Amino acid sequence: MKLAGLGPPRLRGIDRLTEGQIQKRCVEWAKRNGWKARKYVTPGNNGAPDYLFRRPYGICVWVEFKAPGGRLSANQELEIADMRKDGFTVYVCDSFDSFYDAMYEHMQ
Ligand SMILES: [Mg+2]
Repeated sequence: MKLAGLGPPRLRGIDRLTEGQIQKRCVEWAKRNGWKARKYVTPGNNGAPDYLFRRPYGICVWVEFKAPGGRLSANQELEIADMRKDGFTVYVCDSFDSFYDAMYEHMQ
């Protein structure tokens, strides 16, 4: 009988980043690049994005962090859609690269 083995590290979850690890790296990068990062807490509303990032001249974006491939909850879907409908900029980022691309747009 052939042993199945454990599969490649990625599939075993060994090198898979958590939401917290991605968030930490992104927040550190943002702070080094002129953003003020504020944990966004809205008591009584569990659909709100994780962080508000702002920089001078009224530039402000919200970010919901996810683990790679993570999905929004139903409450998050509703809240983020509502914020976007009202003209706010909200990103959902599940990697440092997606965060970098989103924030870079606001740094020109
Ligand atoms: Mg999150």
